[in-house]
Amino acid sequence: MTATAPREEQLWSRCAGCASLLYRKRLRRNLDVCPECGEHARLGAPERLRQLVDPGSLRLLPDRLPEVDPLDFVDVLPYPHRLTAARASTGLAEAVVCATATIGGHPATLAVMDFRFLGGSLGCAVGELITRAAERALDDRIPLILITASGGARMQEGALSLMQMATVSQAIAALREAGLLTVSVLTDPTYGGVAASFATNTDLVLAESGARMGFAGPRVIRQVTGRALPEGFQTADFLLRQGQVDMVVLRRSLRGRLVALLAATRAGRPTRPPVPRQEPAPRREHGTALARPADPAAGGDAAIAPGAGDTPTVRDAWDTVRMARHPGRPTTLDYLDSVFDGFVELHGDRLGGDCPAIVGGVARLAGRHVMVIGHQKGHTTAELVARNFGMASPAGHRKALRLMRLAARLGLPVVTLVDTPGADPGVSAEEQGQAAAIAENILTLTVLPTPVLAVITGEGGSGGALALAVADRVLMLENAVYSVISPEGCAAILWPDRSAAPQAARALRLTAPDLCRLGVVDEVVPEPATAAHDDPAETAHRLRAALLSNLLPLLDVPPAMLVRLRRQRFRRFGAARAGTWAGAR
Ligand SMILES: [Zn+2]
Repeated sequence: MTATAPREEQLWSRCAGCASLLYRKRLRRNLDVCPECGEHARLGAPERLRQLVDPGSLRLLPDRLPEVDPLDFVDVLPYPHRLTAARASTGLAEAVVCATATIGGHPATLAVMDFRFLGGSLGCAVGELITRAAERALDDRIPLILITASGGARMQEGALSLMQMATVSQAIAALREAGLLTVSVLTDPTYGGVAASFATNTDLVLAESGARMGFAGPRVIRQVTGRALPEGFQTADFLLRQGQVDMVVLRRSLRGRLVALLAATRAGRPTRPPVPRQEPAPRREHGTALARPADPAAGGDAAIAPGAGDTPTVRDAWDTVRMARHPGRPTTLDYLDSVFDGFVELHGDRLGGDCPAIVGGVARLAGRHVMVIGHQKGHTTAELVARNFGMASPAGHRKALRLMRLAARLGLPVVTLVDTPGADPGVSAEEQGQAAAIAENILTLTVLPTPVLAVITGEGGSGGALALAVADRVLMLENAVYSVISPEGCAAILWPDRSAAPQAARALRLTAPDLCRLGVVDEVVPEPATAAHDDPAETAHRLRAALLSNLLPLLDVPPAMLVRLRRQRFRRFGAARAGTWAGAR
């Protein structure tokens, strides 16, 4: 609803659906649903909570975290100014409000996103608050309800925002293991990194009537495909038809549906033996970084491998982006030939597809058997087209998932090679559940009981990259990039136009040395003097050495401890961790 003239603002609203002028009090009584046309207006988090929980039962969880500007991000405005403005206009500390409450007498923990606050974007503080809410649910042994409204990961916090997808997902995985119900309620709009993680990897996914959800936004899809989108694309009814949500719920029925679902799971609980808590929540004081795990397998100190130190990189971030995209840059199949031996490719997701943008199979690394999974681009236009430019479809993510699980069953370590501009943003990818496919990979990697070693070899594009990169150790080639959004995409949103891509590349801190400092990457693998494509043999030699030195220590770590340490690695990327960037410079 948009307000009418300022003086009447408090009294009247115009419906965004049918343009009727509506008396505000009447509208509010009707839960902000237009009585004329049924349009569900967007709700702020406080109003949403008021509508859903039992009166008097609401207990807000703490929402104050240290100020975070981990990248010193400036577009046309400094990021802290945008934060201050969002706080002033919403009265909220962040884009999520978390609480415990009862709903129809059933206790639950709720995390409710608020789209008014920087588009409900997922940054370090939002990820931290939702993770704490999930940990509270685990402590209290009660269900977690997530109400999502988000444009995606918060660009101004770069790859650290991307990491929040893993952090929240692993908190959801812990609730799954404990037999506690997780529910997400999609409200309008839910996109990007939120759609591709906790909005879709919960036990149940409800969509509020009129909500739209997808991995890629309609503007991006239109831009990529150059075509008009089908009628009703990405709407709640579309999602229901495509099997992506359990139900579409009118706002007036939402509370009742939640009560019924909570009651059903509560009835079942007594028969289930209590599951001991595996890891205590890493409670800490505000502003202090978590102590690093003592075990080297946990990925303690970020390091630049020997060799890189002699030739410090002073390349501009935009030049590095161009280097990472160079058509001559070695691909996953090149590395399978030069770094590994005896590769046997395995195909198919067993659900109806085989995506050429992801290759995977068993291979040997210095005589040890491993499962290798990577994005495949190509060197010529024909190769790139045949491989969809390394942009995986849902079938590709599901093939990767199948191979990861197979590796765990067979006791094989997983090595992933990440080189993608991003996941496929096409119409059919959305129809086939791209967001949920990525979300399931991220969640599965947080619990996979076998060593996982990821290498960003070229482009680490957003959620599509993270879908293969939740690992015990994350390495990055010197001229690779890893980012929450492409510099062009970021420029198009935050600057006047896409020609600001070089500035965006600098602001996003997407180079290997930057990400090493931020702790997103554990080790930089140096490239030959000019770049990987000038001396692929030497690059392969260095990559092989880095893989071995990082993989061998992981092989002796018991699987349960691996998983625990991997979770600690990704749990560090909350608000407190991000605050250490200032000290790292
Ligand atoms: Zn209306």
